Amino acid sequence: MKHYKQYINGAFIDSKATSVIEILNPCTEEVISTISTGTVEDANNALEAAQAAQPAWEALPAIQRAAFLHKMANVIRENRVFLAETLSKEQAKVIGLAQVEIDVTADYFDYNAGWARRIEGEIIQSDREKEHIYLHKVPIGVAVGICPWNFPFFVMARKVAASLITGNTCVIKPSSEAPNTIMEFADFIQKIDLPRGVLNFVCGAGRTVGNALSKSPITGIISLTGSVGAGQKVITAAADNITKVSLELGGKAPAIVCADANLDLAINSVVSSKVIFSGQVCNCAERVYVEDSIYDEFVDKLTKKMSQVTIDDALTGINADMSSLVSQSQLDKITEMVEYAKKEGAEVLVGGKRPEQFNRGYYYEPTILTNCSQDSQIIQEEVFGPVLPVMKFNTLDEAIAMSNDTEFGLTSSIFSENFNNIMKATNGLHFGETYVNREHFEAIQGFHAGWKKSGVGGADGKHGMEEYLHTKVIYAKYY
Ligand code: NAD
Repeated sequence: MKHYKQYINGAFIDSKATSVIEILNPCTEEVISTISTGTVEDANNALEAAQAAQPAWEALPAIQRAAFLHKMANVIRENRVFLAETLSKEQAKVIGLAQVEIDVTADYFDYNAGWARRIEGEIIQSDREKEHIYLHKVPIGVAVGICPWNFPFFVMARKVAASLITGNTCVIKPSSEAPNTIMEFADFIQKIDLPRGVLNFVCGAGRTVGNALSKSPITGIISLTGSVGAGQKVITAAADNITKVSLELGGKAPAIVCADANLDLAINSVVSSKVIFSGQVCNCAERVYVEDSIYDEFVDKLTKKMSQVTIDDALTGINADMSSLVSQSQLDKITEMVEYAKKEGAEVLVGGKRPEQFNRGYYYEPTILTNCSQDSQIIQEEVFGPVLPVMKFNTLDEAIAMSNDTEFGLTSSIFSENFNNIMKATNGLHFGETYVNREHFEAIQGFHAGWKKSGVGGADGKHGMEEYLHTKVIYAKYY
């Protein structure tokens, strides 16, 4: 069985901790690998290595830093099948989607490399004679990236590519539930001659390693993708040194379906948003609001479509739409939420239980719920699984108000063929992203940023890259 080590200052080291983290294949519940449990000392060593490497990395012309990012993209593409299988096995992502994640991650490195010649400052007119005001964009220093288990490889790239191209060095903490693909990448990094200390990987618990990385005075920016609870802990730890945070947290995305919507398009989009990675996606539709006059037809068709979703082993079931949930704790949480919704009066139209054909793995059936109330747990809290509550609305104003009635603000969508409805919704929805007549899924050149408890700052595109830059202003007076 493979044993992974921490990757610090260009070398793989076994942590001094005696315990190891066991990684399971969620479909089989078998241990597939171990990794040494990172410690606070490992976190601090990685930060010191990143700090020592940063001035020389910043001094490299950006185009040379970009060359390393292209090498990373290439090494990922050369190993795409192996990496996709590793990803599929450690977190039950169906192999087709795992392959997409690997390929998009390679594209992400290339895309960010493209910023090398486009990181620009400004020259501003001064009020004084013989003075120029120069606005420079400079790296912050050491960036810490804390990753979730759901899209571990892609989210790692979001943090690594944007921080390195801008001249920062980086320490990544993978999730203990899915570190394997990231640690395989660390092995490839060793072979591309990246200067020592520029990129480090420390795996361990959030409350120890994550906390130490967030609290350290060396850290210039902490970018965390994860739950609201972890975001709150990171903000508290960052308060010690007033360290910049960029937080991409949970969501409770509404999808609004108007009577004039293309119904098949709406149903296909909502189902694909919910079934992709078994609904364990931050941006996916978590609740649907359907206009009264088409509600019955919509629910009938949606139920039929969800009943046709195929479930299988992530790696071997190559045509499956979805697979197991990531862990027993995810399965328990989703089961409890559906049972509680039932107690509150919800009706289960399809699913609502574990599928009978599997005697191991953390599988849960695609589920449609109706008869939920707006203030119920299932409508207010993030499920993060293949469970979709459907509600009715009479006016678009009412649908927008119910959509906004949440402490989250990540993504949302509207399905309508009417320009006025679309404009009203895109303006009225209080979310960082609104999708019009399409499934919930963002682009690498966009800006993925949550409002309210879904986060601060954001990732992707020009604005995501700029998260890793300080603005420095120089007032240059001459005689
Ligand atoms: P999680 O919060 O349990 O863990 C995320 C990371 O935070 C892990 O690496 C964990 O070890 C670390 N962590 C936990 N406590 C910490 C602490 N005190 N200090 C520092 N680090 C700490 O989240 P998860 O279960 O891995 O992921 C699922 C959550 O992530 C969902 O809520 C989902 O919506 C969210 N998510 C958001 C986005 C986005 O872009 N907005 C993307 C993916 C996932």
